[in-house]
Amino acid sequence: MGIPPETVDQLIRENAEHCCGEDSICVRLVAVADLPTRLGEFQIVAFTSPNDGKEHAALIRGNPIGRSSVPVRLHSECLTGDGFGSLRCDCREQLELAQKQIREQDLGVILYLRQEGRGIGFANKIKAYQLQEHGYDTFQANELLGFRPDERDYAIAAHMLASLHIDSIRLMSNNPDKVRDLEMHGVTIEGRIPLVIPPNPYNRRYLEAKRLKAGHLLDQPNAEPVPEQVDEADGSRGGEAPVPSAGSGSSTDPR
Ligand SMILES: [Zn+2]
Ligand SMILES: [Zn+2]
Repeated sequence: MGIPPETVDQLIRENAEHCCGEDSICVRLVAVADLPTRLGEFQIVAFTSPNDGKEHAALIRGNPIGRSSVPVRLHSECLTGDGFGSLRCDCREQLELAQKQIREQDLGVILYLRQEGRGIGFANKIKAYQLQEHGYDTFQANELLGFRPDERDYAIAAHMLASLHIDSIRLMSNNPDKVRDLEMHGVTIEGRIPLVIPPNPYNRRYLEAKRLKAGHLLDQPNAEPVPEQVDEADGSRGGEAPVPSAGSGSSTDPR
């Protein structure tokens, strides 16, 4: 499976001279390779921006080119979580869960966006952690550092989906803002697939802050807060009806 070689050649050719303009958010698809991982076989797609020089990635299972209703997960880079297994957030768990779900469905895309610390950068994220050790929650800490609560920009993600000729997606997320932001950038979203991850003792406070301040959709019965990354664990519609217990929900992997 995967994206066939002739399609890869075509994508690279059509991206070679691509540019949306000097002041526009723009990425070019520049390379595609097989990527066997501990969580299954994928292809990895490299994107570069002709404007800010940032490099983004898409981890792909199956051939999503020209398809509708493709399961898509947006993941913002988190060095501490993804790389070091930090328990201050649940980014790595969300990433692994998304990889597993996509493997099970044999079709899907993880857009890995290089916007560490929800857009504030690595050093500022660590400064915010430092502030949190002095009693501030994650949103207060970011504000003290002069950032809005969430600086991520979904324009890049929307562009990456367009570069892959994906017609419509089912967003793997619990965050209603993500749905809105992507739609604002022209992405057609046909549904949402929840990710459910139970909190740990270290990220509970973080998750609780997100639940209270960012309007994340959490409706687990005991209202245990959920994770960092853009969206939290749990899932399910609406926000009222209790869901079975601890991660048993729907198609997700409770770990
Ligand atoms: Zn462009
Ligand atoms: Zn993280």
